[in-house]
Amino acid sequence: MKNKYFDGAHKWEEKDENTIGLPRPFAIPIRKDLAKKVPIPWQSLDRFESYGHLGLNLKNEDLVYKNNLCSYCGIKIKKEEIVIRWINAPVEITSRKGPKIFSDFHPLHLNCMEQARIFCPHMRKLQDSDFELGKFKKLKQNAISDAMKSKESKDVSDWFFNSNKKNIKKNDES
Ligand SMILES: [Zn+2]
Repeated sequence: MKNKYFDGAHKWEEKDENTIGLPRPFAIPIRKDLAKKVPIPWQSLDRFESYGHLGLNLKNEDLVYKNNLCSYCGIKIKKEEIVIRWINAPVEITSRKGPKIFSDFHPLHLNCMEQARIFCPHMRKLQDSDFELGKFKKLKQNAISDAMKSKESKDVSDWFFNSNKKNIKKNDES
């Protein structure tokens, strides 16, 4: 059956950690609570065979805040672009290495969030009211404000605070 989310997609391999854009490479998990094919976000790794769930690509995860990227597809988001982010995330227990990570509440492209909300077993339980829609430059600031509430925000490396300063400066200029 043809499925728009996988049209032209291939099965995820290790080298796909650098594959950006849609469609995402997919995994074939055997878990019954998941679809037969699951897209692998850019900041994730297919670890379904070893751990039974996604792994985290920490290098890509760190680049999300630093380079204003969509964690799902890895493509840079434009300042004025209308994007969407999760607003009721458990920010206090977010850490750099998971299980709840900072990119969970960073803005995503609309198409990318649509897929995340279909295929991610956590995201698919959320309501529309658990998300906010708006220009990237505004939602990025909100994401950083949320990240500051994490008990581990002081443990994140310079990328976080640098992206915060850079972003505030950019917003002042615009
Ligand atoms: Zn995206």
